[in-house]
Amino acid sequence: MLLLIPGPVTTRPEVRAAAGVDLAPWDFDFRDLYAGVRDRLLRLAGGAPETHAALPLPGCGHFINEAALRTFLPPGGRILVPGTGGYAERMVRLAREAGRDPVLLEIDRDRPIDPAAVAAALAADPTITHAGIVYSETATGLVADIDAIGAVVRAQGRRMLVDAVSAFGALPVDVAAHPEIDAVVFTANKCLEGLPGLAYAIARIDRLEASVGQAGSWSFDLADIYHQVVTRGDGRPRFTPPAQIINALNTALDFLEEEGGPENRLARYQANMGTLYDGLIRIGLRLYVARAWQGPIIVNVHAPADPQWNLQGFVDALKRRGYLISNFHNTPTPGFRVGCIGAITPYDMDGAVAAMDRALVDIGVHNRGEKSA
Ligand SMILES: *Cc1c(COP(=O)(O)O)cnc(C)c1O
Repeated sequence: MLLLIPGPVTTRPEVRAAAGVDLAPWDFDFRDLYAGVRDRLLRLAGGAPETHAALPLPGCGHFINEAALRTFLPPGGRILVPGTGGYAERMVRLAREAGRDPVLLEIDRDRPIDPAAVAAALAADPTITHAGIVYSETATGLVADIDAIGAVVRAQGRRMLVDAVSAFGALPVDVAAHPEIDAVVFTANKCLEGLPGLAYAIARIDRLEASVGQAGSWSFDLADIYHQVVTRGDGRPRFTPPAQIINALNTALDFLEEEGGPENRLARYQANMGTLYDGLIRIGLRLYVARAWQGPIIVNVHAPADPQWNLQGFVDALKRRGYLISNFHNTPTPGFRVGCIGAITPYDMDGAVAAMDRALVDIGVHNRGEKSA
């Protein structure tokens, strides 16, 4: 079975095997692995140990997003979030429920964020200290230009948090070139092609030092993780870490290196996306994002207009043919999403398109055009 979902992704057998060993997280031998993975991630993000730290947090992407919001925004602190889609809305909810004051910037969801709109919204409200940007909006498949957005945030003297959960490992991240970024957050199980249960933030040390004590949560305080894991402690995790998942991530990072780094991985994902995108059009389906703006992570397809269309039925038919896709959509209009990330190639995407063609026949869908509103 190939997972064509936006995480957890299809992984290599060696990565899964690395999780199959017993490890003692408090043993001294584990500390080298624990620190080694942090170093590798810091370098991947373009960070230097003098200015940035890679901070692990057990759990999923929501957890690390919440930790970044709590750590870098004081209670009541205001963050502007361009409303790219479902994941931007999740950032807003995480901030609100943590007692921060998020401001959702309504934008068109079928085109990339306009940096000028971010600049205007920040200029209009000097009480907003941060912009929260979803790098790759997994609900739609669009990618944000974090260089251009970062430049306007920097120009206005504001700070930025980047949700790179479905980006890191493929899309470029260079924290050294972005002094406005307090933290970039991500998990092990998307473009890094590791296993789920582990998240990281690449955070600025000066901002961590300035943010001590404001998280309002011990579990989700990156400043506390920084002091325990990097400075004060002896390299020991704060609480029990997912040691096996860290070991698997270390193996996954070997494969990322072997592939030639994020640039080459991005090229493979782009080839996956291109094969999928063109193939879906060839079999008569309608896509959500224009080809010029389509990102390499996930492709969003409009539901066929046929009355026989049924997402779960389609997912089940496709599963019988060896491909698993998401069984929910994150857009206001119905559709389905296909992930282009993970240990898969354009050859797999060709197979997936052929299987989708057959699965539509299986469930009796003849009219593959888009439903008119
Ligand atoms: C997957 C994802 C998350 C986090 O999802 P979890 O289910 O909490 O791991 C956050 N943001 C984006 C953009 C994502 O793609």
